[in-house]
Amino acid sequence: MARQFFVGGNFKMNGNIKTIKEIVANINNAKLDSNVEVVIAPPSLYLLLAREHLREGLEVAAQNVYDKANGAFTGEISVTQLKESGITWTILGHSERRVILQEDDQFVASKTKAAIDGGLGVILCCGESLEQREANKTIEVVTTQLKAVADKISDWSKIVIAYEPIWAIGTGKVATTEQAQEVHAAIREWLKKTVSSEAAEKTRILYGGSVTEKNSGDLAKQPDIDGFLVGGASLKPAFIDIINCKQA
Ligand code: PEP
Repeated sequence: MARQFFVGGNFKMNGNIKTIKEIVANINNAKLDSNVEVVIAPPSLYLLLAREHLREGLEVAAQNVYDKANGAFTGEISVTQLKESGITWTILGHSERRVILQEDDQFVASKTKAAIDGGLGVILCCGESLEQREANKTIEVVTTQLKAVADKISDWSKIVIAYEPIWAIGTGKVATTEQAQEVHAAIREWLKKTVSSEAAEKTRILYGGSVTEKNSGDLAKQPDIDGFLVGGASLKPAFIDIINCKQA
């Protein structure tokens, strides 16, 4: 069975009431490839606004979630709070959180487990730094990040993996189609060995890192690239062209 193409938009800490409404209206009014699953992730303050305005059939993701059900955890949001608000996905393990906020593999895995157990879909990010790539450690780094999750959960049906080389995020330096395909294939092989053949066959593996309407078409042709996690370009009208890149 073919894997459904998936395009996520990570707005990061960008936007305001006016611009989020404009972006959502632009998506609502566009003719989108109906074969593509589309999920947008605005800052938490605007999750409800986005959900309220975004048309049915398109989903909203948080950029983070906590691994406890409720309580004295200032600044955090729980899985049940997201679910109650119609937010069906969360991004976890983004490199900006791993690097700037020092989230380690165990914490990302624990949050992934809480999200999956609570019924959220997870866009699970992994990726290497330039230093690690140059030291030929890319596959080791990425599979170590994923193994922390595999140690805690066995059901990968609600996880979408986003391979995001750190050196390509927000830099304009996109991985070549060969570089991306090589890592995606290695992740799929790792899933087969570590989780199951079914997980390897069914899990979507997205590429993220300076995806634009110009490079998305070629990347999407790679056999193991099942979609994109888009940062900067998701704030622009070009996001529509990325969603529709398989049709171009
Ligand atoms: C991201 O933040 O997930 C990302 C891929 O950013 P950009 O597309 O801007 O490189």
